[in-house]
Amino acid sequence: MAKLFTKVLVANRGEIAIRIIRALQEMDMKAVAVYSEADRSSAHVSLADEAYLLGPAVASESYLNIEKIIQIAKKAQVDAIHPGYGFLSENDEFAYACEEAGIVFIGPKAETMRLMGDKVESRKTMIKAKVPVVPGSKEPITSFLHAKKLAKEIGYPLLVKASAGGGGKGMRVVETPHELKKSIEAASREAKSAFGDERIYIEKYLANPHHIEIQILADSHGNVVHLYERECSIQRRHQKVIEESPSPFITPALRKKMCQIAMRAAKSVKYLNAGTFEFLVDQKMNFYFLEMNTRLQVEHPVTEMVTGVDIVKEQLRIASGFPISFKQNEVNQYGHAFECRIYAEDPLNQFLPCPGKIISYRIPQGPFVRIDSYLQHGANIPMEYDPLIGKLCVWGFDREEAVQRLTRVLKEFVIHGIRTTLIFHRQVVKIPKFIQGRYDTHFIDKEFKFPKVQPKQPLKDMLLAVAAVDAFKKRKKEISFVEEEFHTSPWLQQARSEALRPFFRSL
Ligand code: ADP
Repeated sequence: MAKLFTKVLVANRGEIAIRIIRALQEMDMKAVAVYSEADRSSAHVSLADEAYLLGPAVASESYLNIEKIIQIAKKAQVDAIHPGYGFLSENDEFAYACEEAGIVFIGPKAETMRLMGDKVESRKTMIKAKVPVVPGSKEPITSFLHAKKLAKEIGYPLLVKASAGGGGKGMRVVETPHELKKSIEAASREAKSAFGDERIYIEKYLANPHHIEIQILADSHGNVVHLYERECSIQRRHQKVIEESPSPFITPALRKKMCQIAMRAAKSVKYLNAGTFEFLVDQKMNFYFLEMNTRLQVEHPVTEMVTGVDIVKEQLRIASGFPISFKQNEVNQYGHAFECRIYAEDPLNQFLPCPGKIISYRIPQGPFVRIDSYLQHGANIPMEYDPLIGKLCVWGFDREEAVQRLTRVLKEFVIHGIRTTLIFHRQVVKIPKFIQGRYDTHFIDKEFKFPKVQPKQPLKDMLLAVAAVDAFKKRKKEISFVEEEFHTSPWLQQARSEALRPFFRSL
């Protein structure tokens, strides 16, 4: 007889740790947090029912320290561990270690994770399951000659990818044959240093595709359901920045087909718990399997908003041995949802990470707004981890209303103390092709003009400030982005007043 867990350790930090702690507490389960020295006063620590120090800030000694996490889990006597995303969430050794310690790992079986976490192996598995994959190599590249032969068969442009890849690392676009050798060597080196695994493979580089993924849930009673799709084509350097559901691109017939294929693929690997099948869809509506993420995704809230299903709670139920709490015919896509990823990065300075202290902030409010973040007054955004500080999600009755709400909410959101990508999002939502839902994965490269002007030093005196504003106005089109922020952004206003301070002091 299945019984819900009583105590669960959350092996993560930041917004996702809080997201999971909230689900646990709503389900009457005790939440155990772990934290590094850099996160002593982080919000996930104070929200949990118990919290344990893992070790120094560096991830290898804290959030990636399997031994220490298992030791704490045993000490705290938890039933299960939720890994969140990133860190150990796709690490099969960690899943095995949990199993050995008699603790449930909230996710698929370790062997499924290993199989699907390896891009070459998962491609092979999907081919066997008759799922269309992006044309490319079936085995890792063994030599330059091997690559050359394959490249000729596949045709240019192509993409060199790391088998153990993730986060766009070890990925290189190759336009012509003479770039091949250098790209293979560079990708392999990058893969070795990022993943400790230099294996790479080659794929056809599809022209202007859409990234569309299908969320699935599978329980230990043989039930598999899908929660429809997320469109994740708004990307910067092949990394998602805004996601939405439903996709404004695919047809109902294609949606149905992709969902059916994702469920078939999940069954073919006896998948358990929540997972996502990522596909690329070309302009002719052909779709190809890209990879599977065997964990909770960053962008899961858009699916939750349109389906009403709490994916984390379903994960907890499934891992406790319960069946999924609804049937496929009980779940629909209702309305439209967006998510913007808010990073501690400076869009006016090539998106350089901007760790630091949050001085103050204003969280937007109003109907159908959801903010998942670890913002708090005085919070430290450490430099050691991913710069994602939060996610802003909105729901609307239809896409038009959701865009309007997103635009309003982005204006309301204020974060002082560090630079964030909020200003980038405010500009993106104004671009006509975004408003019309006509974009593909090259949208940001093609449509978004990054400002070229950003004073590197604080302005020395009033004359310089006036001259700069004047120059801004003359180059209005190019810098409209900066100019607007200059007037509306509190941190730029603060920078401006700081720039003028020496002038007033000298009077
Ligand atoms: P990672 O796991 O490193 O994030 P993915 O394989 O998931 O890499 O791809 C990330 C993004 O890169 C995709 O969403 C897409 O925009 C682009 N991409 C990946 N493979 C291809 C391809 N074969 N053709 C065109 N774009 C691709």
